[in-house]
Amino acid sequence: MLKFGGTSVADAGAFERVATIVRMHGGPRPVVVVSALAGMTDALLASVTTAAQADVGRARQSVEGQLDRHREVARRLLAREEAASFDATVARARREIVELLERLPTEWEAQAALRDEVASHGERLAASLLAATLAAAGLPTRAVDARRCIVTDEAHGQATPLAPDTERRTRAELLPLLDGGLVPVLGGYIAAARRGRTTTLGRGGSDYTAALVGAALRAGEIQIWTDVSGVLTADPRVVPRARPIPRLSYAEAAELAYFGARVLHPKTIQPAMEQRIPVRICNSRAPEDRGTVVTAEPDVQPETVKAIAHKTGVTVLQITSTGMLGAYGFLRALFEVFDRYRTVVDVVTTSEVSVSLTLEDVRSLPQILGELRPLGDVSVEPERAIVCVVGEGLRTTPGIAARIFTTVRDINVSLISQGASRVNLTFVIAEDRVRDAVRRLHEAFFEREPAPVGAAVEPGG
Ligand code: ADP
Ligand code: ASP
Ligand code: MG
Repeated sequence: MLKFGGTSVADAGAFERVATIVRMHGGPRPVVVVSALAGMTDALLASVTTAAQADVGRARQSVEGQLDRHREVARRLLAREEAASFDATVARARREIVELLERLPTEWEAQAALRDEVASHGERLAASLLAATLAAAGLPTRAVDARRCIVTDEAHGQATPLAPDTERRTRAELLPLLDGGLVPVLGGYIAAARRGRTTTLGRGGSDYTAALVGAALRAGEIQIWTDVSGVLTADPRVVPRARPIPRLSYAEAAELAYFGARVLHPKTIQPAMEQRIPVRICNSRAPEDRGTVVTAEPDVQPETVKAIAHKTGVTVLQITSTGMLGAYGFLRALFEVFDRYRTVVDVVTTSEVSVSLTLEDVRSLPQILGELRPLGDVSVEPERAIVCVVGEGLRTTPGIAARIFTTVRDINVSLISQGASRVNLTFVIAEDRVRDAVRRLHEAFFEREPAPVGAAVEPGG
């Protein structure tokens, strides 16, 4: 099972590299999942926003350039007849997109459904184009509409797969192709609800598709081909010296993905872990690099900390009970509020009388606050960031927390939590300090001689 992200299919050169990688690394029965071409999903979603502002002409135009990029790849890599047939596919997609933009509903729910429908064209076109270019390179392929495989609930934009249906349909669609010697090529990210409406799995969701399909087929390995040589010790956009991590456990990778390492969609690890399938993260521009392999085995490194992830755009709520409810009733009443508004809580800490928690999705915040206020005093801190330090060694090595907080001692920490898996230590700081904090932690844990644990804790530090 191989998944190629948007930058791995950005232009004709990238498509050519994919063909070589599938041949060299795909094993005897490869299955390919592909994202939309880099920039395509952004453009499609932006076109819906522009159309909503009643400018369908401009919305159309912004998609036009993107469609041309697809045709350009086809012109460069396909024989004339195949390129013409792909042009017809593009023309059909254009017609459908324009029709959708022209009848954009104003009601929010209906608009969310239409956004998914528009966005789906990115992955659908990428799958057709990749199937055709692989075929031109001599690999017998078949483009598959992923909406026939991945079945979800109806939460547009952030749908949850229904596991048994997804597994059954994926096997029914793909196994006959594999048995017939064909390489199935399907778009990631897109899916369909039971009644057939198009849904999507959330931004970056193609990784998750790859894991779902890999798990359904009991693949030997799930390979995520991207633009970096594996999961790195920190986000390379913040820490240019971040380096690839050779091995991670499922628990470590899941925490990193969940707390901001964009290289993996947060839900990617779960289906792989359930079937104990290794996940490998590789660089499509440097296919011989070792990359990162994620398996069940914990691999405790001498330096104990494996990576630092971070996530901005977080809001902290602190609720102090007014004592009307016992602790049990209080917590239940509290979490029922978030449940009602389908709002995910990421980090939670509690004391006898208060609860602190973080949210990313603040769409329902006004209503949530309205319902929380009868339970206690509520304070809201926007513009926070989560920092998550990950490593299996955190379970067993004393003194790491001290080292972490010594390193960021002049930064105000508003919430600290250690996950039940105990492979992460997570805390919250102001958003404008997060780059500094991550750089300093990276320097302390990865760019110095490994100091004996505890050595960094000076008296009074
Ligand atoms: P793709 O299009 O292949 O899915 P993404 O852009 O979604 O690629 O993910 C890869 C990017 O994730 C990298 O280019 C990098 O900037 C970012 N990233 C953030 N944190 C990490 C990390 N810890 N390790 C590797 N990449 C990271
Ligand atoms: N194309 C989708 C996005 O840009 C899915 C993905 O890239 O994984 O979010
Ligand atoms: Mg991605």
